[in-house]
Amino acid sequence: MPYFDHNATAPLNTVARDTWLRLSDEAWHNPSSPTRDAARARIRLDAARERLAGFLNALPERIVFNSGATEGAHAVFNYWRQTFPTDARIALNPTEHPCVLEAARRFFADRIVMLPITSDGVVRVDALEKLLNENTSIAGVAVMAANNETGVIQPWREISQLCDARRRAYLCDATQWLGKLPGSGLGEVGWLIASAHKFGGPKGAGFLVLAPQADSFASQPGGAQERGHRGGTEDLPSIAAAVAALAEAEQSKVFLEEERLRWRREFEREIIASLPNARVIAPDADRLWNTVSLLLPHAENTRWVAKLDKRGFAISTGSACATGKEGPSHVLAAMGVPADEARRVVRISSGWSTTEADWQALREAIVAVAAEIVPPDNVIKL
Ligand code: PLP
Repeated sequence: MPYFDHNATAPLNTVARDTWLRLSDEAWHNPSSPTRDAARARIRLDAARERLAGFLNALPERIVFNSGATEGAHAVFNYWRQTFPTDARIALNPTEHPCVLEAARRFFADRIVMLPITSDGVVRVDALEKLLNENTSIAGVAVMAANNETGVIQPWREISQLCDARRRAYLCDATQWLGKLPGSGLGEVGWLIASAHKFGGPKGAGFLVLAPQADSFASQPGGAQERGHRGGTEDLPSIAAAVAALAEAEQSKVFLEEERLRWRREFEREIIASLPNARVIAPDADRLWNTVSLLLPHAENTRWVAKLDKRGFAISTGSACATGKEGPSHVLAAMGVPADEARRVVRISSGWSTTEADWQALREAIVAVAAEIVPPDNVIKL
């Protein structure tokens, strides 16, 4: 079944699966135990950390393995609240994933400033700069690397430099970027969070990169695992599998193949030609090669998704976490997309093994579904 919902989760990469099985047999020991087998597990844990650090240009000792981005966001904001002045505020990109927005609200409540964005959903760096110059009470900034619903890429390098120069903390959610674009440099931005299942690793595994001077960070006290930053026995097979999955993407560089972007663009062009009232969201923005946020005519997105599902195509209405919730996406609302249009937007997200033929088949299926639900005058068959 052609799977176009990689931004919700990706299938387990075969190298990651092999790694997980092998280490579950060979290295199941507790890396903190005082035996030789445990020491061998510890060596493998350190090797996974070093390898990951290499892909991100991070310092290995700043990497904390955890369960993923949701945990990471909560841990970072909690630490910020504990270490920032009591009246400090934070600035957020309004199109962040709900796990970032909700964690921020939990720890900062009404001490949150939403950043201005363009109609394509890109944070305005000039406005951020002005805000940081004028508001000394803003101590931290959170802007993701790439958006899960639209694929829109944020200027995280510039934002990181800006925050660095103004001595503000910066949290970057790289969950959708990693595995789809090179991770190089992300380990230097400040605080970084990610989940392995978005790039072909196991679910429930991820990591956090600590900013410099975060030595007192202890998200959950307990054992002295992860240098005391996160208590709890490390899941070495999942950690090693996560790093193996990222290594597959980074080393094969499939994500840099230009044709992948071309397939997505062709798909967009042909769909718009076939369905007069269809529209791509943020068409001119820099977007991930795998993601299309598509406004479809006539029916609500849930109907399109269900009909395509019946035909064997997995797509989504938006962020997986928002699926089933009432109301249109907060991302589209922040971009100024009217609510009645946002309810007709679907998210299509391809993966590393998606072919040009899969994109064409999806286009044909959408046109076929349109013939069922759109009044005949509004469909042009190619
Ligand atoms: N951040 C982004 C951009 C995401 O797309 C997701 C998942 O959809 C998350 C964070 C949360 O990831 P997890 O549920 O693995 O913690």
